[in-house]
This record gives sequence, C-alpha cells and structure tokens, in this order.
Amino acid sequence: MKLSNSYIGLPEEFYQLINPTPVKDPTLIVFNNDLADSLNIQLENDEILNYFSGNEIPKDSVPIALNYAGHQFGNFVHQLGDGRAVLLGEINNKQGSHDLQLKGSGQTMYSRQGDGRSALGPVVREYILSEAMHHMDIPTSRALAAVATGEYVARDTFEPGGVLTRIASSHLRVGTFEYFASRQQWEDVKILADFAIQRHYPEIRELDNHYLELLKKVSSNQSSLVAKWMSVGFIHGVMNTDNFTISGETIDYGPCAFLDEYHPGKVFSSIDQNGRYAFGNQPSIASWNLASLAGCLIAFIDKDSDKANELATEVLENFSVETNQRILDLMCKKIGISGSKSENHVILRRLLKIMMDNQSDYTISFRNLSKVLEGNSDDFLKEFDDKTAIQEWLKDWKAVVENENNDQASLVKGLNLINPVYIPRNHQIQEAIDKAYEKDFSKMLEIIEVVKNPFIEKDRYSLYAKAPLEEQKVLRTFCGT
Ligand code: AMP
Ligand code: MG
Repeated sequence: MKLSNSYIGLPEEFYQLINPTPVKDPTLIVFNNDLADSLNIQLENDEILNYFSGNEIPKDSVPIALNYAGHQFGNFVHQLGDGRAVLLGEINNKQGSHDLQLKGSGQTMYSRQGDGRSALGPVVREYILSEAMHHMDIPTSRALAAVATGEYVARDTFEPGGVLTRIASSHLRVGTFEYFASRQQWEDVKILADFAIQRHYPEIRELDNHYLELLKKVSSNQSSLVAKWMSVGFIHGVMNTDNFTISGETIDYGPCAFLDEYHPGKVFSSIDQNGRYAFGNQPSIASWNLASLAGCLIAFIDKDSDKANELATEVLENFSVETNQRILDLMCKKIGISGSKSENHVILRRLLKIMMDNQSDYTISFRNLSKVLEGNSDDFLKEFDDKTAIQEWLKDWKAVVENENNDQASLVKGLNLINPVYIPRNHQIQEAIDKAYEKDFSKMLEIIEVVKNPFIEKDRYSLYAKAPLEEQKVLRTFCGT
C-alpha cells in the first residue's frame, strides 16, 4: 500500500500531525476487497487489522487531522475539524488521488468535548449506505474496512466501539474554506483554492477566472449529486457545510436514511428538529451551502465587488435552474418519459402527489411500473389505497409512455436500470446494527451483498425488497456521535 500525503505541504494551520490512538482488542468485521483491488492495496490479514484499527501506522503514512469550520443547521461554528478521524495518507491510481481516513480513531486537537471514538452502529450504517450509493452510481466516499475495537464508548448507554476506514477523493469541504475566510486569512483561502483545483479540477487551472470556475465546478458536481439523491429517495440528514464536499461526493453518513413512503417533508434525523434537511429541502440547502462557498471565494472572483457578486449570483441561479431540470430529467426517466417537455412534468407531479396522499413506498412504486407495462398492475396498485386516482393516472401515463417509446422491451429494461429493487432500508440496517452489538455480523454482511446489485431482482433477497411493516418502521435515526 503506497501512501503519500499532499496536505502536509499546506501551511501548518491546515492540519494537526496526530497518530491514531490504539484500541484494546480489535477484530475485523469486513474488508472491502473489490475496493482494495481497485486501489492496488495488497495487505496481509494482520496488516489489515493493525492498520485499520489504528494500532499500527503503515510505512510512509504521516497521519493528520484536518482543520475546518462550518455552518451547522445554519449557525456558524468557527472551529470544527477532524475530532474523531485521522487521514493516514493518499493512494494514487489511474483515477487520481484518494484519501485514506480512519474514523473513530481517537482524540485530536479538534475533538472539543468529544471522545474521538465512534460507536459500532454508525460504522455499520456508513459501511452499508456508502456501498449502496456507490453501486447505484452515486458519487460517494467508500468504506474500505470496518473494525470492532473491543472497547466501549459512552453514548446514551455504553456501546461497543468501531473504526471505519473510508476512501474519499478528498476531505475538502465548504467548511475548510469557511475556516480561513471567517478569519480573513485570504492568503490561506487562496492556497486552499489552488490546492482544490489541482486536486479535483486541474482542467480549469489555466482558465482566466479559475476561482469563479472552481465555484462553477463544485456547483455542477453538487447539482448532479443532489439530483441523484432525490431520484433514489436518499436523505443525507446533516447537510451542514462541513459535510458538503468540494469534490461533489456524498460524505459523512450520519443520521441519513432512504425514504420508505414518499413525502417531501420527510425527516429522520433526531437532531433536525425544524426539518431544515428534509428530503425535499435538499436542493435549496445545497444552494445555501454553495452561497457560503461563494462568500469565501468572492474576493478572488473580481476586484470590483459588484461585479464579483453578479458573477457569483449567476452561478447560484444557474445551480437552481440546472438542479431542478436534472431532477425532472431523472424523475421522468424513472417513469419512462422525457424530462424535456413541460406536459410530462405535470404527469410526474400528479404521480408524486398521489404517492404522497397514499403514503406509497417510493422504491416499490417506481420499480413496479415496469411490471405494469408487462401486464401486471397488481403489485403497483397495492401501494395505493385510493385506486380511482391512480387508475386514472395510469391511463394517462400509458398514453404518453406508449407514444414516446416504440420498443417496449428496451423501455422495461431502462426502467429496471434506474429504479432499484434494493435500497438499504432503515429497518434492515437497524437489525444489522442490533445484531452487530451481539457480535453477529451476518446481517450486515448480507445487506452489503444485497446492495451490490440494486437493480437485479433475486428471489433469495425478496425480504430486502419489502417495505417495513408498521411495527418495523424506523421513525428516527441518530448520528451517534
Ligand atoms: P459530524 O457529525 O461527523 O459531521 O461531526 C461534526 C463535528 O463533530 C466534527 O468536527 C467531528 O470531528 C466532531 N465529532 C463528532 N463526533 C465526535 C466525537 N465522538 N469525538 C470528537 N469529535 C467528534
Ligand atoms: Mg462531518
């Protein structure tokens, strides 16, 4: 495993040199062999256990905790940083650089009141969710390993501890920019912007206004990310600016969840009391976060502040328009019709309204539309109590879909490639966590297998295609920090 570290070339306020704190009695729960292969990581079993529990530092590693600030639920917190994570280094392959980070690896100078550890529950959750997202082709950090520490952490009760090793294309966040901008350390903001461009967007380096271009790139990547989240019913849950990446990857899986029944106002997170990060708010919160980034870069966009404001505002306005269109395109694709016609948007909105009124399962409803085309409407109709409204809709939808598609087989195939059968459902994840707390990881491992092929239905996994029964429903999720 060849490690480098480009962050340590940055000024010293950007990070703290800090080693992970060893744990008592680590056991490996799971190692992501596919991901390891793609990163050319070849390790012996004892190396895997020692490195990814934090008990041994790999050769060439210079472990650091990164510094950042951020807006949490709209309020600015001037000092955050990796309080329970260390970056072991970066691995380079054909796709570029990838950060290798341990999460739950002990205290750092940014820990504030925290113990620097993670309970096992959030480790299980992040592993499963990030794998599911990856296999649905949604940009995300990925889990390389999960380890049980053999120690306990004090949360509401004492819980077993865990360390997650994750790979991300970087850990640069909007909050990293905010740290320096809020202190008016403009030279550092510039160094950071140049570093981010070099790392993620080298193609804009030579362009005239490359700081404006950076804002455009982050906007565009976040726009396509949020649209993908919306299309699969993913709720991040804590879209604070410190969890909002410059790369455009999903990162920091906390109290996140997938929708069961559809409602745009849906919130799972126990700490999101006002629904700031509700399902349907995600596009506008992304825009809010980008406005924070724009505020950090504004001085570099143009010397004339009116002109700079105008240019940045244009990027933010484009973000809203583009994201809206991307969501419409993906959602219309989920029902087999073109997203470029406004009359099709009406058809889509009608369906969503009926789904909301009937508390229909988001994943099951979309998936079963392809069956309707093959002559089986029953599974689809089961999701709706009010049959009249949905029958009416089906009739109108069929007319459009048949008009726009003349090859039914490829239409069905297309629908089944965009509408997953399997998402990591909250009640299944909860069961995996409960079992993990009894040292039984079989459920976790099975879910990981299931989410590897989200679009292909398999009889043996039928349990995972089902919505939760009323008594199985998870109503609240916790970040567990
Ligand atoms: P997160 O909820 O993961 O986005 O974390 C928000 C901030 O709280 C980050 O600065 C984390 O490093 C910090 N934090 C969360 N949990 C802990 C913990 N157990 N110990 C120390 N810092 C923590
Ligand atoms: Mg975070």
